[in-house]
Amino acid sequence: MKKRIGLLYGGKSAEHEVSLITATAVTKAIDYKKYDVIPIYITLDGEWCRGPQLTKPAESVEELKFTKKESKPNYILEFILDENQNQAKFDVIFPLLHGTYGEDGTVQGLLELLNLPYVGNGVLSSACGMDKVIMKQLFSVAGLNQVPFVYFIRYEWDRNKEALLSKCENELAYPMFVKPANLGSSVGINKASNREELEKAINIAFKYDRKIIVEQGIEAREIEMAVLGNNEPKVSVPGEIKPTTEFYDYESKYKDNSTQLIIPAEISPEVEEKMKDMAIRAFKILDCAGLVRADFFVRGDEVLINEVNTMPGFTPFSMYPLLWQNSGLSYSELIDRLIELAIERHEEKQ
Ligand code: ADP
Ligand code: MG
Ligand code: MG
Repeated sequence: MKKRIGLLYGGKSAEHEVSLITATAVTKAIDYKKYDVIPIYITLDGEWCRGPQLTKPAESVEELKFTKKESKPNYILEFILDENQNQAKFDVIFPLLHGTYGEDGTVQGLLELLNLPYVGNGVLSSACGMDKVIMKQLFSVAGLNQVPFVYFIRYEWDRNKEALLSKCENELAYPMFVKPANLGSSVGINKASNREELEKAINIAFKYDRKIIVEQGIEAREIEMAVLGNNEPKVSVPGEIKPTTEFYDYESKYKDNSTQLIIPAEISPEVEEKMKDMAIRAFKILDCAGLVRADFFVRGDEVLINEVNTMPGFTPFSMYPLLWQNSGLSYSELIDRLIELAIERHEEKQ
């Protein structure tokens, strides 16, 4: 029996366009002999639109942007459930969403309530992975090496700027990295080399979130590993990122093509072993499922974890799929495996 897959993409987030590119790529790679593919487009306004079943790859991103007119106006529950309002129309939902309302556990919560199997991380791991402060606190519980950090909320900043600037300077050394707690794609992140820049960077970060994190800056290589699995997660070969900009910012992630990905990264077997062990420990402490990309800073033989991404970039040119391709798993095979893992996890929960 063919499985009915709901491809969920777009979304109310800064990464809307990236998600559309990923969805287009998935329609090209997915096996139509095995799956019925139903596109579900979330517009920038947050409206859910279900398109007609796909029987072949989408020719372009535009084809997947059906408008409200073309698809009957739908309420989320109405099109996920059938006419009797009780039976799921899908065997698996494949979320290809990034950022807020996509990888932060909210969509995952909706799918849990509907009792639908879905690809990737659940509510808890998605929410913890989205919040850099919570994530880092869990990493320290797991004993993972990472850069020192300070965090605070806007309410505290508005009342006591001087004290918080001093706290940063007492606990960390310049340069520092200032980040909104709940974002990705380097949005709102700035490097600060003195008090003036620090204050400016903090004000910028607070435009994006009510909570921010200030980290000790580090001169290091950036190396990533892909993790795939549920109870027995497997780790890919390592891949190195070489941005040509000062750090791996939004532009270098999505706009210019100058960033080099080196796969496999040239590192010693000892460093690779350390990274593997840390990637699995990070996966386990966040109780992850399906997939995660674990990002590290490597300085000599020292390995520090930077973050995990619970819905990593997933175009065929993104690090996560490329790492698996280099570990012997093609993009199509990876899609199959993720769908299998979604079903396996759902069955385990029943
Ligand atoms: P995002 O979730 O948006 O990818 P990251 O924490 O990975 O946020 O930061 C984005 C980029 O900023 C990193 O890939 C790295 O280039 C740089 N960066 C972040 N934190 C530090 C740090 N503490 N020291 C040095 N560079 C950093
Ligand atoms: Mg991230
Ligand atoms: Mg990152």
